[in-house]
Amino acid sequence: MSKKASPNGHSFFQNVERYFDKAAGLLNHDPGLLYQIKTCNSVYQMHFPVLVEDKKSGKKSVEVIEAYRVQHSQHKVPCKGGIRYSQDVNQDEVMALAALMTYKCAIVDVPFGGAKGGIKINKKQYSDDTIERITRRYTTELIKKNFIGPGIDVPAPDYGTGEREMSWIVDTYVAFHPGEIDAYGCVTGKPILNGGVRGRREATGRGVYFGTREACSITEDMKKYGLTNGIAGKRVAVQGLGNVGYYSAKFFQEAGATLVAVAEIDCAVLNPKGLDLEDIMKWKGENGTLLTYPKGKVVKNPGAALEVDCDILIPAALENQITEENAPRIKAKIIAEGANGPCTPGAEEILLKKNVLIIPDMFLNAGGVTVSYFEWLKNLSHVHFGRMNKRFQENTQKVFVQQLEKLTGKSVDARERSWLMEGADEEDLVNSGLEDTMITAYHQVRETWKKNPKIKDMRTAAFVVAINNVASAYTTLGIWP
Ligand code: GLU
Repeated sequence: MSKKASPNGHSFFQNVERYFDKAAGLLNHDPGLLYQIKTCNSVYQMHFPVLVEDKKSGKKSVEVIEAYRVQHSQHKVPCKGGIRYSQDVNQDEVMALAALMTYKCAIVDVPFGGAKGGIKINKKQYSDDTIERITRRYTTELIKKNFIGPGIDVPAPDYGTGEREMSWIVDTYVAFHPGEIDAYGCVTGKPILNGGVRGRREATGRGVYFGTREACSITEDMKKYGLTNGIAGKRVAVQGLGNVGYYSAKFFQEAGATLVAVAEIDCAVLNPKGLDLEDIMKWKGENGTLLTYPKGKVVKNPGAALEVDCDILIPAALENQITEENAPRIKAKIIAEGANGPCTPGAEEILLKKNVLIIPDMFLNAGGVTVSYFEWLKNLSHVHFGRMNKRFQENTQKVFVQQLEKLTGKSVDARERSWLMEGADEEDLVNSGLEDTMITAYHQVRETWKKNPKIKDMRTAAFVVAINNVASAYTTLGIWP
């Protein structure tokens, strides 16, 4: 997926501002308050030298790396948001992504301000040692300016980063903060053995699934888009098989959806009869590309996956993928935004006229930050979820089942019995906390949409919810009346 510029001449941050203004125009907040909510509070651009080693030739040289951390809002602290490693990173992009984090957290009621980071590198070019050096140096630059810490700003994975990078970040932070008891809460998305929480890896994709499932469960709404309710039987296309795309596809497939297309950076694979996700991933792992994948039609243009005949299209790669140029050719009835900013405002206008339901990024991909919040809570409490109550719950449930059997004279079926008597472990609690968060937020956004006839689409409704929530934080603080 190459990153396309928005063809309307607006930058990504300006696109986010346009969406914001559309919703803000429907509200009666003080203009100064709206400006404070919309603007980026702090932008930290940095350059630092790192000894880099070319992956292929092994040649070493010193390179000056360009990187960013943007804190969009401190209406709640810490600030929160991932770090992206990509050749296309630039200040405008990081600002846009930081702003989306503020609104995302507000929608799912996660008590953080928005932030984002980015390092302008092509990871494929460097050895692992070099990537480690860059990550550790970036972390020290953040430490130097007080831009990281469990109560200040908490990074997480994003495009091009994962558990490995988060480990290097926490290790560097801890080395500089000996004795800081909550130091492990300085970053989320860590491996389990290094302070991570179970379920974080799958969280964004799982959230995309829960949010879309909720939308599809309302018969009255689905009828408007000519769809029946439920996920089973729906034809799904996924753009991007990174963490978000892969897990989204997996949960949809497990729920009985048919995966009719996937797109990777160099091609799309289409099969109206259905693709087997695990088989695709295996092929990708063994061959490094899907260009030679035999069980579907391979098209060299990855954009082809966006235009296939399907019910649900999940863009799960980068921003500006659906533009005025390709929007007229989109056939999906639902666009489930797994990525941040995949549709430009111009594309959205075209799609809304075509009666497409767009479930917006700032709600739908909030599962990642929701479970990051759980991880942060785990780090601050220094105990894993379920440790204090799992056994207790199992013991009381056992007594309950025994009493039930005694009183009724009937025995509970063996499968049900083991389910009834099982106490919740960390993964159960994280997943049910995520499910509840996505369902609650969906209905809050939907009700806001349905109650106000001036709101014509779900993104505007989501912005209204976000703006109102951030505004009330400022008014509660007594800054605005
Ligand atoms: N990078 C993810 C996002 O865009 C996760 C952020 C986080 O967990 O802080 O939502």
